[in-house]
Amino acid sequence: MANPESFKVIIAGGGIAGLALANALEKAGVDFLLLEKREIAPQTGASIIIQCHTARILEQLGIWREICAATFSLEGRLHFDERGNLFDSSPIFKLVEETTRRPIVLIERRFFLDTLYNCLKDKSRVLTNIGVASFWEDEHGITVITDHGDSIRGSILVAADGVHSTIRGLLASAVSETDPERFQYLTKGFTSSYRAVFGTSANGLRDGSTRPLLPEGIVHHVYHRNVSGLAAAGAKGLLFWFLFIKEENPSTTPNCPRYTETDTIETIEKYGNLFACPGYTFRDLWGARSHAGMVSMEEGVVQGPWNNGGRVVLVGDSICKTTVNSGFGGNLAVEGVCNLVNRLVSLLQRNQTPTTKDIVATFDRYEQAQRPRADISVKISHSTTRYESMDSLWLRFLRWLSPWVPLSYQVKRFLSYMNPAPILEFLPDPDSGRH
Ligand SMILES: Cc1cc2nc3c(=O)[nH]c(=O)nc-3n(C[C@H](O)[C@H](O)[C@H](O)COP(=O)(O)OP(=O)(O)OC[C@H]3O[C@@H](n4cnc5c(N)ncnc54)[C@H](O)[C@@H]3O)c2cc1C
Repeated sequence: MANPESFKVIIAGGGIAGLALANALEKAGVDFLLLEKREIAPQTGASIIIQCHTARILEQLGIWREICAATFSLEGRLHFDERGNLFDSSPIFKLVEETTRRPIVLIERRFFLDTLYNCLKDKSRVLTNIGVASFWEDEHGITVITDHGDSIRGSILVAADGVHSTIRGLLASAVSETDPERFQYLTKGFTSSYRAVFGTSANGLRDGSTRPLLPEGIVHHVYHRNVSGLAAAGAKGLLFWFLFIKEENPSTTPNCPRYTETDTIETIEKYGNLFACPGYTFRDLWGARSHAGMVSMEEGVVQGPWNNGGRVVLVGDSICKTTVNSGFGGNLAVEGVCNLVNRLVSLLQRNQTPTTKDIVATFDRYEQAQRPRADISVKISHSTTRYESMDSLWLRFLRWLSPWVPLSYQVKRFLSYMNPAPILEFLPDPDSGRH
């Protein structure tokens, strides 16, 4: 793209959305500057499943091979009841891989972020320990004020600053008097009815055993009443696990709880004796942890528009939050980036100095493409969370029926979710000529 300096994207946030966006813009030859309030890739103990449709985008960005080389494919799922009895098992991941010819992998979130960062050729465009505090805009661009008090000039500001988005808060404040309904959408867009304890432990839990507790490639799910869990082996002898618990009192942003280590310990004291899977409990997993934490599982899609009618647009968890169970949130953030960059690149190919009106129309088109994906992802994740914790009599009955659901139908459903996902239109389609 000629004269890339003419248009500059300021990205707030160096999480999955922000770093994926930086990579896509770099590949498109669009200038950008990413500001991350903290460090890149902090160790939190969280893991992430990468689905096949996201793998296709990562392949376009040139980082999929590195991710695959560092881990192994997921193959199947084993489902256990609260007494540790196996009631269902399926090689679903393997079958999806056979169809898409891409594996589904589970990796450390930190490794994913590191890989995204390392893939950037020009790292001087990423500034850490600098947050976006405020902004002002005019017809020609936007000026971002950092939390150090510096001003940075750009053409647009993309808020990739997560579920507690500062920028969504600024957009809300700007309309608090003039548009109380939109103020509510922006501030109270997410609810939380579940919490998740998550961790990374050694995959050989007891007595310093080096024999893996879980085999590679298998995800163990356990179903208790109002509580569920999963565990899976990761590369390098790691074990990733989750304990999902229904909250006694649901909450709405901005009042969803921010849990401390003491809260996490109390939760483990209360639920740790439950079987995580046959032969081990959540307390065993906790005891063997290298890192762990607990988060409130907000869910919802913020009512539109996802832009401010000017030069600011929201992506990732800042506008759409799924519960963790289905492993969609980070994948969806990459899809959103893809949908935004496709439209931005197309705009800049036509006009390198677009007006605010052109930009808003582009942001609207991004939202039109991404909103259906956000809605369906939140819906599936919502149901999965309730199903796994057997939230109602009906869901308990469904769980009993689940072993009879044909595998071909399960695979079809999986693929029907993945198939409509976008790719980066300005880069070669890795699947063209593949089949
Ligand atoms: C335990 C756990 C497990 C998960 N597992 C999966 C999974 O298997 N699959 C999946 O797809 N998803 C998973 N998710 C969800 C996924 O992690 C999120 O959807 C994803 O991280 C969202 O990315 P994001 O970049 O939008 O936000 P975030 O990852 O929250 O990143 C936001 C970034 O912005 C920075 N920031 C905040 N404010 C500012 C500011 N004012 N200025 C500059 N920077 C700022 C933050 O420091 C942060 O680095 C999981 C989530 C959790 C908690």
